[in-house]
Amino acid sequence: MSNISTKLEDLTWIPRPRLLALRRLGIETAEHLLTHFPRRHEDRTEFPQFPREESDVPICLCGEVTKTSLRRFGGWKKIFEATIEESQPNALSEPLVCRWFNLHYVQKMIATGQRIVVFGRPRLRGKRICMDHPEFEVIENDEEISIHFRRITPIYPATEGLSQRVLRGMIYRVLQEFPDAGWQPIAPPSLVSGDLSAATRTIHFPESWEARNVARENLVLSEFFAMQMLIASRRFKSSARAGQAHCGSGALLEKFSKGLPFELTAAQAKVISEIRRDLAANYPMNRLLQGDVGSGKTVVAIAAMLLAVEAGYQAAFMAPTQILAEQHYELLRRWLEPLDIRIALRTAARQEESGPLPLFAQKENPGKARVQRAGDGILLSRVSKSSSSQNAATRRLQACAPQTNEPQIVVGTHALLYESVSFSNLGLAVIDEQHKFGVAQRARLTAREPAPDVLVMTATPIPRTLTMTIYGDLDVSTIDEMPGNRGKIITAVRDTAKLGEVLGFLRTQLEKGRQLYVIYPLIDESDKLDVKAAAAEYGLWRDRLHPFRCELLHGRIPAPEKQLIMDRFRRGETNALVSTTVLEVGVDVANAALMLIENAERFGLAQLHQLRGRIGRGEHKSYCILLSSSETKEASAKLAVLEQTANGFEVAEADWELRGPGDLLGTAQSGLPALKIGDLKRDAELMRRARAAAMSIFERDPCLELPENQRFLHLVVEQQGPSYSHVS
Ligand code: ADP
Ligand code: MG
Repeated sequence: MSNISTKLEDLTWIPRPRLLALRRLGIETAEHLLTHFPRRHEDRTEFPQFPREESDVPICLCGEVTKTSLRRFGGWKKIFEATIEESQPNALSEPLVCRWFNLHYVQKMIATGQRIVVFGRPRLRGKRICMDHPEFEVIENDEEISIHFRRITPIYPATEGLSQRVLRGMIYRVLQEFPDAGWQPIAPPSLVSGDLSAATRTIHFPESWEARNVARENLVLSEFFAMQMLIASRRFKSSARAGQAHCGSGALLEKFSKGLPFELTAAQAKVISEIRRDLAANYPMNRLLQGDVGSGKTVVAIAAMLLAVEAGYQAAFMAPTQILAEQHYELLRRWLEPLDIRIALRTAARQEESGPLPLFAQKENPGKARVQRAGDGILLSRVSKSSSSQNAATRRLQACAPQTNEPQIVVGTHALLYESVSFSNLGLAVIDEQHKFGVAQRARLTAREPAPDVLVMTATPIPRTLTMTIYGDLDVSTIDEMPGNRGKIITAVRDTAKLGEVLGFLRTQLEKGRQLYVIYPLIDESDKLDVKAAAAEYGLWRDRLHPFRCELLHGRIPAPEKQLIMDRFRRGETNALVSTTVLEVGVDVANAALMLIENAERFGLAQLHQLRGRIGRGEHKSYCILLSSSETKEASAKLAVLEQTANGFEVAEADWELRGPGDLLGTAQSGLPALKIGDLKRDAELMRRARAAAMSIFERDPCLELPENQRFLHLVVEQQGPSYSHVS
């Protein structure tokens, strides 16, 4: 019986060495082979007559070899030429000269009198029409030719050890042997019309471009649908769990807002109310808060935590780096001490592999997965002293708190997840800079019983199509407005040769009292050599900026010292900070209005945008200077984007445009299957349709219990891997 799950090794006509090459690509069954989709197609339908002029579009021709010759030039170099003529020439027919340089074997394959098919670009060379290095085949049997030429021909992703031709030939034959090979439909008929067998056949060997396009759309929709079913199952799985309401009356929040030195923006108020609704609901919150750098996410996080604390729960606030955790901690102490909230800081200096995860471990299978764990964490927890002012809100608070001296808010690094200190009643976990945090880690957090509310925040702008994929299992809130009190950031790209002028400008700004970040790229923060380079760099900058005071910051400086350096800078005792990208996320010093980035072309656009977000945080006009000595076109196109826009989403779209397709999904982090045919950028609209279809199935049947939904249940389980048994 021919079935697509047939192992390729059972097909005796495939030579064994090819099986090995296929296996290296993960291709072991007929199905794997047939879902090794073409990357593109070439129009190799036969051209009606031989060309009389040149063309940029490659064309396919068939003719008779009338002459061959081998010429030498420049000593050992050889040109082999074959002249081809139309089978039924007319008065205007021109012969075509095919040329191959230094390809010894071609000469052995082509002889006068043979019929031959060629595919390439015709060029005028002197008076002759030539094709250099065309793809070709000598016609011995017409069927063989019809696989590779005289058609719209599939071109596969480059594969090591297998030529296009071999792969194409195998796929052709497998398609013939499995004419109706039992492809199960993936998507519902309302989304995909036509069956998968036909679409698969057509995508490899289409009869026309229209047919190719229809087949591709069906296959992409099926693929996207499968992915969105997985995402939707995660989403419905977590919201189906029992949660608790973690929302106080809001009195504490109101008091906090009144004490703020600024008004919340309308966007901040909007997202706070969205979060508040989730906190008050009985199901667990799983919400992503998106907002460009500097849009004011921290205040929103604090607002959410205050609502949870007021309801008598603890809140955890997790940041990706030590510096950031400490900065949050300082801010929280400053802002929340007047409200008598107990705050603690927990960070880990070192992380090691594996070990139990008492804090967030699932009851059923504690510590099953191999994960990082905070080793000897430095406990820097300081508990703010209680003042005697007992207002209504705090009285209520303390009445609810289980143990009076337990912290109500714990600030720490992401390692907090793995620390051996447990919360007695965690109600809300806020994760800052979510992009440094994988889906698996998030799952660990949400798996806790009873489920806490989870708010993840990110400033990494990603194109909207990606949001519904990577973060497709979350509800999304967006802060789409910057606080109004911001000075503009002016970004300028300058050649390294102009450093002198740039320095002159920076000095005038430093004299006005502004502060400066100098950023330079480091390949590996842990590298000893780089530490040396950093020190040398620092020496240079001290001289350049003299007499302004300058300090050095990099990842290898011990945490307490880092903290002191940041403090001095924050207080304005230092004028300039020479730093690696440890500065990248979240650091907030309003008076720092200057940034100079060395070798800017070595950074990615998204990272440059993040770095730039460190300035422009106060009322002053800010300047970001990108120094670059690179003359390549791509580098200047890339940096020009930053000169043109300060909007993170626009930067992200441009970045995507420039980088082209690639594994933007960060598949490992997102825990989603890699795409075989769909393209997140080009097929954004199809993704939207697939998502809507998947969501509507789960809305009607959240646990996929209806008989007609059983095949969808299988689809989800299959993608989850063997450990997964049921969606709900
Ligand atoms: P991010 O979203 O990048 O984390 P932050 O929360 O660090 O941004 O906020 C950046 C700066 O803007 C902070 O100094 C913060 O106090 C300030 N800020 C936040 N909200 C407002 C607002 N509504 N008006 C004025 N300043 C604000
Ligand atoms: Mg932040």
